[in-house]
Amino acid sequence: MPLDPFDWTDDEARRRADAGLVRTLRPRPSVPDLLDLASNDYLGLTRHPDITGAAAGAARRWGAGATGSRLVTGTTELHAELERELAAFCGFEAALVFSSGYAANLAALTALSAPGSLIVSDAGNHASIVDGCRLSRAETAVVAHADPGAVAKTLGAHPGRRALVVTDSVFSVDGDAAPLAGLAEACREHGAALVVDDAHGLGVLGEGGRGALHAAGLAGAPGAVATLTLSKSLGSQGGAVLGPARVIEHLVNAARTFIFDTGLAPAAAGAALAGLRLLRAEPELAGRARTVAATLHARLTAAGLTAVRPDAAVVSVRAPSPERAVAWAADCRAEGLAVGCFRPPSVPDGISRLRLTARADLTESQIDWAVDTILRTAPEPAPVSRPASGM
Ligand code: PMP
Repeated sequence: MPLDPFDWTDDEARRRADAGLVRTLRPRPSVPDLLDLASNDYLGLTRHPDITGAAAGAARRWGAGATGSRLVTGTTELHAELERELAAFCGFEAALVFSSGYAANLAALTALSAPGSLIVSDAGNHASIVDGCRLSRAETAVVAHADPGAVAKTLGAHPGRRALVVTDSVFSVDGDAAPLAGLAEACREHGAALVVDDAHGLGVLGEGGRGALHAAGLAGAPGAVATLTLSKSLGSQGGAVLGPARVIEHLVNAARTFIFDTGLAPAAAGAALAGLRLLRAEPELAGRARTVAATLHARLTAAGLTAVRPDAAVVSVRAPSPERAVAWAADCRAEGLAVGCFRPPSVPDGISRLRLTARADLTESQIDWAVDTILRTAPEPAPVSRPASGM
């Protein structure tokens, strides 16, 4: 009898089960049954009537699908408008919209490097950056996390080489911010480009949520490029690359995830545009998300938990082991609170965490209840429970 060619997947499944690392899909009900501290809907906009209305209107006007790649039939007025408004809001010359943030990162990294060029990548970068580096066929040097000195040293070891430094603006696992000023300085000194994935910065950092590059005075700088997702603060779906006009023009002609991918669905483009306009109209949303994060962090650490001080809207709380992290998240869920759970192999350092999203629209009583629930379900040794006052 010939072997079934996928028998090996059973061995993999057994290995995952033995290690307690099985991933499962859980459909989300249309009416939320849990308090959500697990999604990336940082500003709580994804159900805003302006956004859902814009999505529905765009689908009715242009159709449910984009119908083709951006260069053929997949570009509508909405895509062009979104690109103009995104660039203007974030302070860049031009923008290009993609079907996802993942595709935007692959585009920036593959089209702006080449075999023989150098990419210097932070050890904590998102998987889409890691994959972009791999696809680029450039030499990739992975450097210590958030260490501009290590970046400068690596660039200095390759004089005259075309080089690009890439980093998340806010790291998705721990919620800490990249040292953008130091990285930009190293790039200027060595003539390297700086590509910053601002997936977790847009809508949360910078004046009115204009993002981490704007906050660092790097928006529109000739050597700087930002990549974005439209799926977090903007409450929609899709991605974008922002940068100098000539760089965007190059991507239109060279980025394979732009040229060979069906364009972003009109509904998503319309929704992202509505999300952007809401953000522009309500600049206080960004600060509110940061304040909620700081409050969650202060309350949880005061009660004895270990958590990284948040630089944006992600609060990362340490768990003693992968098994206890999973059990902790499950206990929170049983009480009605959805939290993220990060554990190996998704975390490079092997440390398991609960990951909390500090949404701008959380009320004070929701924050109180969420903190209380996390503390009540925390693994031993139990943290000191504190009254809800003193926020
Ligand atoms: N970069 C970072 C830092 C992310 O967290 C994500 C999404 N989780 C992406 C890129 C990918 O964006 P998208 O989900 O739009 O593909």
